[in-house]
Amino acid sequence: MYLKDGSRGEDVKTVQEILKQLGYAPGKIDGWFGDKTENAVVTFQEENNLYSDGIIGPNTWRALHRSLEIHLDEQINPPIHNNYQPELMDWVRVPADKYRDGYDRFFLREDAAEAYSKIRETIIEAGGKLTSSGARRSLNANVGASRSATSFHYTGRALDLFVGSGMENRGRDPYVISSDGDRYWRVYTRADGGDQMDIDAVTYGSRNRGRATSGRFIDLTGLFEKEGFKRIRARRSFFSGGSWLGAEWWHFQYEKELEKGVSMFGRELLKVYTEDQVHSTPPWRHKDRVFGVNWF
Ligand SMILES: [Zn+2]
Repeated sequence: MYLKDGSRGEDVKTVQEILKQLGYAPGKIDGWFGDKTENAVVTFQEENNLYSDGIIGPNTWRALHRSLEIHLDEQINPPIHNNYQPELMDWVRVPADKYRDGYDRFFLREDAAEAYSKIRETIIEAGGKLTSSGARRSLNANVGASRSATSFHYTGRALDLFVGSGMENRGRDPYVISSDGDRYWRVYTRADGGDQMDIDAVTYGSRNRGRATSGRFIDLTGLFEKEGFKRIRARRSFFSGGSWLGAEWWHFQYEKELEKGVSMFGRELLKVYTEDQVHSTPPWRHKDRVFGVNWF
């Protein structure tokens, strides 16, 4: 089968449709093989190392279908290899409120840092605190029982409030924490400019039963969510006397623009590191994990 200038019919239409999907400009999809279609075919042939005569023979026909397959596949499952390298985002140092041996600054990738800064502005204005136990995790950090191999901390998308700034003393901590059920917490920041609230606050010593705590607070979990940061759940073991490190009330992760079933851990790493920097590190082994499927 050969299709060339002057040909017409359903096969020509198919060729035009494929060319259009692939980003070439075959003109109207009308089943008429004219100049525009011929030019698009020549361009396609040149870019695919085919003999560039503007005629669809068996080789070009096969190449068109193969390119379409790859193209459709990439839309569902973007490739990580093939020198894929998006423009790197910056790591931005943002301020935090020092509380005991917490930090007074930490690093997030630039879009998460921008969102965090908005939250911080609101909290500071109301007289509250944003403490820190850190955010960025080294690619070569040890992975232990309480450290996920695909942590958002590797990607610049997660932060931890200072772990000792809540669940210790309901009357004094910068944060009081109540259960939202299903192992989720709601974190409130103590702030003079906040709303008067009665919170059923839990502590490390009383994990399963809260106690009414009054004061002026801001719903920090709600504020984080508004800017794209989600909370995670406490580990199951936490409620049966397991390590207090399983509480995770302090952890917030920036999930903006992540698509369930589509976004991949490796791609997020490549937004803040070059492939050379990541390819021999432990997290890279999990580059194919998919958000909402086996990466959370
Ligand atoms: Zn964390």
